[in-house]
Amino acid sequence: MQEKLREIQKNAKKQLENVKNQEELEKLRIELFSKKGALTAIMREMGAVAPEDRPKMGALANTVREELEGEFAQIKQKLNATAQEAKIIAEKIDVTMPGARRPLGKIHPLKQVERELCDIFLAMGFTVVSGPEVERDYYNFTALNIPENHPARDDHDTFYITDEILLRTQTSPVQIRVMEQKKLPIRIIAPGRVYRSDAVDATHSPIFHQIEGLVVDRGITMGNLKGCLEEFIRQLYGEDVKTRFRPHHFQFTEPSAEMDIACPKCEGKGCSVCKGEGWIEILGAGMVHRDVLLRCDINPDEYSGFAFGLGLERIAMRRFRINDLRLFHENDVRFLHQF
Ligand SMILES: [Zn+2]
Repeated sequence: MQEKLREIQKNAKKQLENVKNQEELEKLRIELFSKKGALTAIMREMGAVAPEDRPKMGALANTVREELEGEFAQIKQKLNATAQEAKIIAEKIDVTMPGARRPLGKIHPLKQVERELCDIFLAMGFTVVSGPEVERDYYNFTALNIPENHPARDDHDTFYITDEILLRTQTSPVQIRVMEQKKLPIRIIAPGRVYRSDAVDATHSPIFHQIEGLVVDRGITMGNLKGCLEEFIRQLYGEDVKTRFRPHHFQFTEPSAEMDIACPKCEGKGCSVCKGEGWIEILGAGMVHRDVLLRCDINPDEYSGFAFGLGLERIAMRRFRINDLRLFHENDVRFLHQF
């Protein structure tokens, strides 16, 4: 029996040396120590040992068992450490590796133009303000000299929410909201989205953008209007561009005008770009109507002002040679990345 014990111990040690991982170790442990294990089996043979030898044999069996258990524990610890190390190596992050690049977006062409126009006016001392897109009928029409049932309302295909509430058809209601605050003098621009119930095609969209300007102060004249807008066009299109003012009619300005620039392609001779006109319309403007000032409780004998407005899409289409308005809203990155 003594020899058998020694044999088991020897074999176990040999096998332990070759154990490569936790699974193999566990298998070996079961082979030795479980109920059906080799060590357990030999203890059962104790009954066959002569009574006087039993204590000696029992002690030896215990020693062997304890020694083996000790070695198992050591190997287990070693295997654990190795596994930990392997895990650390596998999960190691090399901070010097180049990262995965995220694709960079671009500023939308309409926003680019809006920012450019705002920058020009900011440099002239204007402030940028905004107003609600869901607007009251009063601000969008009535306060701007377009009362109920006035035919001028027919030019605006308006989205009404209720009889009193609508989606603004122009940025001009911002003028009224600013004047009502009566923090004079006023020098503001108001860029923003406007809505009209137009069918979608290459040049029409139910959503488009305007930028509106308003100056109110003592002694403001048509000369100030012309000087300001000519400077704006010079900043936008360069020193040499020719401009002209044509008389026009708007309900909320008097006198009113439209401003053209000479066609940059034919320089006034007439071509397909300007549809043979030689000129391209850029914006509408005029002196703020007395009645509009009065409605905002501003004395028109003391104060006067001018206002102007232009469409962002048209400027952007010309700037980037885009021939279809719909492209702006399709959100196709292949298109947007070109600008
Ligand atoms: Zn032309």
